[in-house]
Amino acid sequence: MKINKICVLGAGTMGSQIAALLSSLGFKTYLLDIVPKEGKDRNKIVKDAIQRLKKQFPPPLYLPEFADDIEIGNFEDNLEIVKEVDWIIEAVVENLEIKKNLFKKVENFYKDGTIVTTNTSGLPLREISSDFKKEMKRNFFGTHFFNPPRFMKLLEIIPGPETDKNILEEFKKFAERKLGKGIVIAKDTPNFIANRIGVFGIMYIFKLMEEMDLKPEEIDALTGKAMGRPKTATFRTLDLVGLDVLYHVAKTVYERATNDEMREIFKPPEFLEKMIKEGLLGDKTQKGFYKKEKVNGETKIYTFDIKNWTYREQSKASFPSLERAMQEDNELERIKFLINGKDKGAEFAYRSLSEILLYCANRIPEISDDVLNIDNAMKWGFGWKYGPFEIWDYLGVKEFTKRMESDGKKVPDWVKEIDSFYKKDKTKRHFYFYPERNYREEIKSKYEVYISDLKEEKKTLKENNEATLYDMGEDVLLLEFHTKANAIGPGIVEMVFESIDFLENSNYAGMVIGNQGEHFSAGANLYLILMAIQEEEWDEIDLMVRKFQEMNMRIKYSNKPIVTAPFGRVLGGGCEIVLHSPYVQASSELYMGLVEIAVGLLPAGGGTKEMLLRHNEIIPEGVNVDFYPYLRRILEIIGMAKVSSSAFEAKKYLFLRDRDGITINQDHLLYDAKRKVIELNEIGFQRNRKKKIKVEGRDGYFYLEMLIYNLLEAKQITEHEALIARKISEILTVKDVPKGTEVSEETLLDLERENFLFLCGTQKTKERIEHMLLKGKPLRN
Ligand code: NAD
Repeated sequence: MKINKICVLGAGTMGSQIAALLSSLGFKTYLLDIVPKEGKDRNKIVKDAIQRLKKQFPPPLYLPEFADDIEIGNFEDNLEIVKEVDWIIEAVVENLEIKKNLFKKVENFYKDGTIVTTNTSGLPLREISSDFKKEMKRNFFGTHFFNPPRFMKLLEIIPGPETDKNILEEFKKFAERKLGKGIVIAKDTPNFIANRIGVFGIMYIFKLMEEMDLKPEEIDALTGKAMGRPKTATFRTLDLVGLDVLYHVAKTVYERATNDEMREIFKPPEFLEKMIKEGLLGDKTQKGFYKKEKVNGETKIYTFDIKNWTYREQSKASFPSLERAMQEDNELERIKFLINGKDKGAEFAYRSLSEILLYCANRIPEISDDVLNIDNAMKWGFGWKYGPFEIWDYLGVKEFTKRMESDGKKVPDWVKEIDSFYKKDKTKRHFYFYPERNYREEIKSKYEVYISDLKEEKKTLKENNEATLYDMGEDVLLLEFHTKANAIGPGIVEMVFESIDFLENSNYAGMVIGNQGEHFSAGANLYLILMAIQEEEWDEIDLMVRKFQEMNMRIKYSNKPIVTAPFGRVLGGGCEIVLHSPYVQASSELYMGLVEIAVGLLPAGGGTKEMLLRHNEIIPEGVNVDFYPYLRRILEIIGMAKVSSSAFEAKKYLFLRDRDGITINQDHLLYDAKRKVIELNEIGFQRNRKKKIKVEGRDGYFYLEMLIYNLLEAKQITEHEALIARKISEILTVKDVPKGTEVSEETLLDLERENFLFLCGTQKTKERIEHMLLKGKPLRN
């Protein structure tokens, strides 16, 4: 499917952010909106939206400047552009007449073959498209993005009454690969799948909250991590989304799904209406179910008490069942413990979960023919770790059905006829498909490689507690980290050495370093460092750092291609591994940085050295430039613990090189990294060669020292931060030599280690590490 140019109609919350995503992904993007009633500037609405995009958080753009590539216009002067684009997305206000009117105008310029979609949250597609001409009907369907579109994986695709099946199928592939989305095909029913189910869940929780006299913070403690859902749980999520948005979505179901057996649940409760009237909409009005206030310099969170109609101090939820559940790592086990407890928290968990499971079962085949679409919608749209039917399977379909029935609930007959919603046969999973009353195989795209499948297929070659080496097929190895937060410990280091030895002495073409945890790596194992500091085992620390440096050098100078595949958080030692990799294939969602200063340390696994080398390498041979601004930049990046907000920004920090690849769909990352290994091997991989580097010596050091002094004088940094910055500067300049001296990488590594050890010996660094381990937040002492 050829899609290069895209026109987004409507520059509101969704339209502008969809345009931001598309422009970030490199599509030629046009964004139009109405001409404002007042003022001379006919494009003011879109212009304002573009400015907003650059400042918004979380950032809708991979880089702010990508907003400037969006071409702007208005519906009166510029609608003709739809003639030239490959895809038209409508995202104007949720109003049937307005949408129909706009499409009527679009039709005047419509060229057959152009895809036309609507981002409606719940208006019937058959009504929106009822007057379309034939060729437009064939190319029309719903593309329901979730807010924020850059970060939400789910894209619901809703066929219209006459959509061409082939076009839909092609578009699905396009959206997975090129937009990085998880696709759920929905039916033309009110609010489609995710919002129908998700909003039911929230509205039912409202009912239980009042009935069981529970507090929002208690419910949030029960419905977040404890049930395998995002930590923003229920009420914190609502504040983020906006209470008014929830209200409208719930009302749509109430008004349109007149046959829904749970229709009354969707009727917004009085307190919600009143909160909205009083402007308690959530984050957009700075107050909702929670509000933050600064008290004596500290941020305090208050909860809205709907009984007394006022904010009060937050309390801590305390349920033995919850405490017990949280001891489990596995989310499904947690749910099991939670709903089988004996207290009020457990009762709430059971009642809210059983109602939503039942509601899902009753929505088949109304909103979906199978269980997979519903599970995926909840996973990608609401951040559930496991879908409702996966949870029910884990609890036991027969067992849990029995419990529900004994409570007087009516479970649909089709559920009673089966033992499970999924059946697994090695790496193949089959899901229940209602129309055939049978199971269908879940088809994965060729771009998806799952480590769990490699395990199942017994592709493990070597393994220890922290890392495993697999054969990922086509002569490529895969090295996986699997510690908590993928923190780097001795097991990982050992496995990297073993794996590269194995690789270089085998017929394998190369190796991918990657994993499918929540994040690529949170950095070195801080507990181990703190323990060694407490015991004053300086030689132990020296050895630990030396090994880690050697490991990174081994990666850098491997004689076969190694491609690292980072994603999510890639911090400290994790970042250093990536910096040493001959080639990187990164996820576009990459939060990478050398953040050691936050725990009173400096990058000593070769990270400081690599940043120096990288800034040096971008200067062409024979060109004389003033290197001081480069030194200043490196010191800023490390000294301010800069973390990239995307892979594109990581390139700006030189954490990634221009030649490193970017994958949009994280599920495709290992596949892409593997292809890169194969390609590098085929075109003749050249191993890295060692080079010496000319340093700035003591003059450079005094230049940096002056900058640090100024920051300290201006009270922008603490004494200890100034000390760390000086230590970093000693490495970056090689303080003790004259300007222009050539040094080896090993010299720089020695300096890294020496200064790292020095910092380990300071009280303030120890305090920083303890604080981070205890509170999970940095201390600025
Ligand atoms: P919005 O109110 O932020 O923006 C709507 C845009 O429509 C505005 O830019 C406005 O100028 C324009 N508009 C107003 N009157 C118009 C008219 N008469 N003709 C043409 N355009 C007009 O709304 P939004 O939240 O971006 O929602 C847009 C669409 O996306 C809606 O269909 C909504 O249901 C859907 N949606 C919203 C969300 C969300 O979280 N906000 C999520 C998914 C889908």
